[in-house]
Amino acid sequence: MAQPTFRKAHCNDCGGERNHHVLHRDSTSWEAEDACVTGGTNYEMLKCAGCDKVVLRESEWCSEDDPHIDRPPRYFPPSTFRPEPKWMEDFSIACPPGLEQPYDLLKEVYVAMQNAQPYLAAMGIRALLEQMMIQRVHDNGSFDKNLQKFQEAGFVSALQREQLETVLEVGHAAIHRGYKPTEEDLATIVDLTEVLVQSIYLHGDKARELKGKIPPRKK
Ligand SMILES: [Zn+2]
Repeated sequence: MAQPTFRKAHCNDCGGERNHHVLHRDSTSWEAEDACVTGGTNYEMLKCAGCDKVVLRESEWCSEDDPHIDRPPRYFPPSTFRPEPKWMEDFSIACPPGLEQPYDLLKEVYVAMQNAQPYLAAMGIRALLEQMMIQRVHDNGSFDKNLQKFQEAGFVSALQREQLETVLEVGHAAIHRGYKPTEEDLATIVDLTEVLVQSIYLHGDKARELKGKIPPRKK
């Protein structure tokens, strides 16, 4: 049977299912000593027909598998449900050497999410928020006190503080209470974190830039 030259697969750059050209195929196989059980792994090098990104698809099979149950293939790099935001480059500039921890932590959060590591992602977000507060209002000894100072200094509103407490609580539960956040939980806390990072690190510069461009009012 001729092998298909196209395959539908998730593209991280296009952000969804896309047609992919199959560039190359390879496979390995194995059999049990008495040869009554066999299996193997099929590899395909795929190229997105939309953006040309290349990904490796790996699918395993075994003669004992139930034909009605699919073994999900794996992809390298793994499929991500949450691409990094476009402003990561600006965030890296806003975190110069010596103060780069918030940027590094957010970067690691996306890697953890891409590799289905929800505990690490939630812990990373908590660590990122702690660093962000320490950089702006110094370390006041506890999360609660840092949060209090953070709000008093005007970095967050009362409403945002409440949201921030929820985000921090998810990280605390992942660390201390064995709580495994769902994809939806992670999406929510990453949404809130991204908004905060932008308002603390990026919007200030943009607002100053804009202010400089506006012609002054006539006296
Ligand atoms: Zn693509």
